[in-house]
Amino acid sequence: MVLSCQDVRKTFGPNVVLDGLSLDVGEHEVVALIGASGSGKSTLLRCVNLLTEIDDGTIRLDGEDITDPRADPDAVRQKIGLVFQSYNLFPHMTVLDNITLAPVRVHRRPVAEAREQAREWLQRVGLADKATAYPDRLSGGQQQRVAIVRALVNSPRLLLLDEVTSALDPELVGEVLTMIRDLKGEGMTMVLATHEMGFARQVADRVAFLDKGKVLEEGPPSRVLGDPAEPRTRQFLARII
Ligand code: ADP
Ligand code: MG
Repeated sequence: MVLSCQDVRKTFGPNVVLDGLSLDVGEHEVVALIGASGSGKSTLLRCVNLLTEIDDGTIRLDGEDITDPRADPDAVRQKIGLVFQSYNLFPHMTVLDNITLAPVRVHRRPVAEAREQAREWLQRVGLADKATAYPDRLSGGQQQRVAIVRALVNSPRLLLLDEVTSALDPELVGEVLTMIRDLKGEGMTMVLATHEMGFARQVADRVAFLDKGKVLEEGPPSRVLGDPAEPRTRQFLARII
């Protein structure tokens, strides 16, 4: 398994947000997290990326317990890319500098090497001509694609995508979804929280329905989305589609 979450528990005050959640993700697998707002999708992704500390349970990356207090968060984050709904590019930095900031400053990679790799990625996703542009010169879709590239320059083992199309105008969603589909084609292991059921159906190998901080039901998209076993999954889908 690339990622293995076991009995993960996270509370905020009296609020039990992850309630013994377990989820495995195999190599090259794409898992879509679906579920109502507040069901714990973002919290789970933040816990996996060690932005939020879990209260109990274990999260393993390639078998290594990354929630062990002795694990080095920077080293873990180098192996796990996380992209948020809002792209969070630094407005005062060029696309290239946005992408290479963390590899150079945090992970001490040589500047030339990081820039070379960033340019390669920009080329691959059709944004080579934007390398020296500032974010405000880019469309929302282009900015989000840059944010995804920024998460890819470390060649992560795992890419986490949290509602990455939610903040985009409808006509800009397609280019980001296409990029994610291409990444799947290249074998990238991904966990994505999404409200786009059509996209989940197309790109995910497995859909996991989160309810009250647990995976209530998971399976192939056609099964979970088309013929859910759990009444709560059915209710959720009836509301969203
Ligand atoms: P989802 O992404 O599925 O909408 P979240 O993981 O964002 O769900 O939120 C799950 C619950 O955790 C919500 O009730 C939210 O208010 C709560 N929560 C998330 N982050 C925090 C935080 N930093 N402090 C307090 N409560 C939080
Ligand atoms: Mg969320």
